Amino acid sequence: MTNPSLCRECDGTGWMPYRSETADGELEEAYRLCPNRCTPRRCMGFEIGHPCLRPGTVRDELRYHCKEHAGNVHVG
Ligand SMILES: [Zn+2]
Ligand SMILES: [Zn+2]
Repeated sequence: MTNPSLCRECDGTGWMPYRSETADGELEEAYRLCPNRCTPRRCMGFEIGHPCLRPGTVRDELRYHCKEHAGNVHVG
């Protein structure tokens, strides 16, 4: 179920996850900007005392969150 109005590359988040290999040969998850120049979303969640500024890579209807905040329904 994908919304056709959203970018197919980044699902509207503006970020594309990719695996990058570290010098140790381990894979780490990183994000790069969408090649279609979509606006990169920032997480709408909050850390203690300040807003979370991590990439909002997880889309939940109209809200965007980082992976850490994605599971929290009542963010903020
Ligand atoms: Zn995009
Ligand atoms: Zn967050």
